[in-house]
Amino acid sequence: MSNPCLFCRIASGEVPAKKLHEDDEVVAFWDISPQAPTHFLVIPKKHLSGPGAILSEDEALIGKVVRIGAQLARENGAEHCRLVLNNGAEAGQTVFHLHLHVLAGRAMSWPPG
Ligand code: 5GP
Ligand code: ZN
Repeated sequence: MSNPCLFCRIASGEVPAKKLHEDDEVVAFWDISPQAPTHFLVIPKKHLSGPGAILSEDEALIGKVVRIGAQLARENGAEHCRLVLNNGAEAGQTVFHLHLHVLAGRAMSWPPG
């Protein structure tokens, strides 16, 4: 039976996505419904349901997710970017596999909606 988690399936290649980066631990791909001129997601290949599921053993992995997000933003011409982790449905999380949003290319307002 295939993995029911959409982002696990993107990580494995079972579901296609336009990838910007892939290594043994992390995948980055363009968001299907971009909310800014630059909007991509960075995920760990390891399934974690969200920020609330991060264990101390995952700290280096999540640091890598953030480092790659900022690095890819820079490589795509966006020195300044917003990095977002939604944690839970009320915070706007709709896919329950941890993902870092990287948004850039327009002015960002605060507080976020
Ligand atoms: P969340 O709302 O959980 O923080 O973010 C989920 C993100 O995943 C949304 O921005 C949504 O547009 C994106 N997304 C959902 N399904 C797919 C998909 O099949 N492919 C890609 N590339 N992005 C997706
Ligand atoms: Zn998953």
